[in-house]
Amino acid sequence: MAAILPPAMLGIIGGGQLGRMFTIAAKTMGYRVTVLEPDPHSPAAAFADVHLCAPYGDATALQTLAGTCAAVTTEFENVDADAMRMLAKTTRVSPSGDCVAIAQDRIAEKAWIAKAGLPTAPYLALESAAALAAVSDDALAAYLPGILKTARLGYDGKGQQRVKTPAEARAAFADLGVACVLEKMLDLKLEVSAIVTRTSASQMAVFPLAENRHEGGILDVSIVPARIAAGLAASAQTMAQRLADELDYVGVLAVEFFVLGDDTLVVNEIAPRPHNSGHYTLTACVTDQFQQQVRALCGLLPGSTELMTPVVMVNLLGDVWGEDGRAPKWDVLAEAPNAQLYLYGKQEARKGRKMGHFNVMAATADAALEQAEALKDTL
Ligand code: ADP
Ligand code: MG
Repeated sequence: MAAILPPAMLGIIGGGQLGRMFTIAAKTMGYRVTVLEPDPHSPAAAFADVHLCAPYGDATALQTLAGTCAAVTTEFENVDADAMRMLAKTTRVSPSGDCVAIAQDRIAEKAWIAKAGLPTAPYLALESAAALAAVSDDALAAYLPGILKTARLGYDGKGQQRVKTPAEARAAFADLGVACVLEKMLDLKLEVSAIVTRTSASQMAVFPLAENRHEGGILDVSIVPARIAAGLAASAQTMAQRLADELDYVGVLAVEFFVLGDDTLVVNEIAPRPHNSGHYTLTACVTDQFQQQVRALCGLLPGSTELMTPVVMVNLLGDVWGEDGRAPKWDVLAEAPNAQLYLYGKQEARKGRKMGHFNVMAATADAALEQAEALKDTL
């Protein structure tokens, strides 16, 4: 396929922070951008050439995207996969509606991970109350203690309940009231993620592995390079590439892994887009993950993923603003020459809401982590 070159118009469905950083990357390269987003004050629309202020599934807005954009992508997985398939009839779309549909559904996602020959946590797919009723307590016990996760629409630990007994699992399923997976609780040594970019010509580039720490189910800190054995990091990268190949994926694919006590890897979940744990690439890699998204969408070769410096990314949630809505002390960051601040331009700071992040670059990952934690504490 011929490359799409600037100043072509690119479309993105979703106007959050990932859409904002895609838009900035595309605009920097000389493309124009149209954002489809119902929020009149979204992070991405602030930078876009055109803002289609309409619901994501709005037929007229989708028609406009198809008619005015050389290619369309998305920044979130809960976009209507059928809308992506419909757009693909007349314009270039990546990732495909099929891949987005797989990533939207933990049951399909785990089946594809297995199909690629990769390990998942032991799990039971529970499509309906009848399916659960057919499972004996003894059979359930094999997945306990476990986490019941809604098959769809979960993120940042939402739509999950931890369960210890078959009775608790049944009660939690009734409470969630939708298709779920029951996953055995694993003893995690670490969590890591690999972000791979794949083009329609099957060219691939994978970023260095990030070591991720979560707080309350939400990513808190990413440390790069991940402090694990080089061989283990390399095999996670290889697994991410194998999954992208298996899916015939085009675009940026994030793959989350668990590292278990015995140094084995388990694939947790995938995201069909740039990922919060890849924000370190904005300051530390030759090419960042949003530039990769633009490149894959436009049929350009992936850029170099070389890590130029150890780096730590710290998420800034609304919690940092304090009860009274007081803004954090940004002057603290202003006085750290090796730190870079990214704010997403969200008007209201709510608890758990991703408002921004900062990256700290230092000689070693440990030094960057120490400084990043100290900076966060004084904000
Ligand atoms: P989300 O879509 O909310 O990110 P995840 O499946 O990634 O959902 O779960 C969120 C977090 O919960 C994970 O990053 C991990 O810390 C923890 N977690 C999830 N599944 C398991 C598991 N099977 N064993 C142990 N911890 C888990
Ligand atoms: Mg996750």
